[in-house]
Amino acid sequence: EEKINIVKAAITSHPDFPKKGVIFRDIFGALLQPAAFAALRDVLVAHARQLSPRPDAVVALDARGFLFGPLIALELGVPLVPVRKRGKLPGAVRSVQYQLEYGQDTFEMQDGSISKGQNVLIVDDLLATGGTMSAACQLVSEAGGTVLGCLVIIELAELGGRQKVPAPVTTLLEF
Ligand code: 5GP
Repeated sequence: EEKINIVKAAITSHPDFPKKGVIFRDIFGALLQPAAFAALRDVLVAHARQLSPRPDAVVALDARGFLFGPLIALELGVPLVPVRKRGKLPGAVRSVQYQLEYGQDTFEMQDGSISKGQNVLIVDDLLATGGTMSAACQLVSEAGGTVLGCLVIIELAELGGRQKVPAPVTTLLEF
């Protein structure tokens, strides 16, 4: 609880970014302060360690999920699997389209990065409408994995994103 408060205090808020009416929560604020980053790592790892069954892999989402997924994967000693925006991953990939507030985007995962039957923890920085996390869940399921849970640092709770996500969502902070 104390560690989460240190993290929360380090996250900065930016009205009208990236456009008018949006308050952007900047997770990089927590990385600027080593004590806050360490507290954040501790809380993320503690959550991942108490999951049952234990995750066989950690899936990290482009781009800010890449900052946090590896911290967990290394501690658990399991693979770190990237999910990226279209055209960034080499080799054969599986794709899924998802809705953005305006328009759509495509997420991709490399074939063979998740094996059938693996239990997977998905990590990102923030849950807003839930579209991004749902797309990641779909990629994992289509690859034959089971989404044990989705872990995000910040949830914009009033948007109701977690209702859209077909797996348990854990968040450290709500705004
Ligand atoms: P969703 O698909 O749930 O609407 O949006 C979540 C995605 O958008 C996440 O990958 C997250 O990084 C990004 N995002 C949306 N709003 C914010 C914000 O206020 N701060 C940060 N750091 N990321 C955001």
